[in-house]
Amino acid sequence: MAIERTLSIIKPDGVEKGIIGKVIARFEEKGLKPVAIRLAQLSKAEAEGFYAVHKARPFFADLVKFMTSGPVVLMVLEGEGAVAKNREIMGATDPAKAAPGTIRKDFATNIEKNTVHGSDSPENAKIEVSYFFPEVQIHAYEWKK
Ligand code: UDP
Repeated sequence: MAIERTLSIIKPDGVEKGIIGKVIARFEEKGLKPVAIRLAQLSKAEAEGFYAVHKARPFFADLVKFMTSGPVVLMVLEGEGAVAKNREIMGATDPAKAAPGTIRKDFATNIEKNTVHGSDSPENAKIEVSYFFPEVQIHAYEWKK
């Protein structure tokens, strides 16, 4: 499988719950290497732009409000099949439907406050990574674990 990069976000609920370390540990344990990390307070315009595909959905305004309600952790994760692997580790959008052992099952509050974002395709991953990170802020390194 090819080495991919994907965009991961620890949403404001995850930051508020004090589980930044626990979430990142799950990625590291399962072979997803953080190659860029930044704590950020998203502006309304940034959140609206990021979620532009959901503009027509009924939950859009609330989602933007939630995503700007406090700081988020923006990350680029790298690894074999990183896009799909990240989605697996995250679990289903609705924590009530998420598989046991997934981040959303274990930590999410509800379908909106669901702790993490992950790109849903390699094409979107490229767009989402570049939305937040210029190439110079992404740093490759080898694991010796
Ligand atoms: N969302 C929501 N209500 C819904 C569906 C989604 O508030 O009924 C929010 C939720 O935070 C979700 C995000 O919108 O993570 C993007 O939705 P998507 O369907 O793309 O889910 P994801 O790819 O994040 O699993």
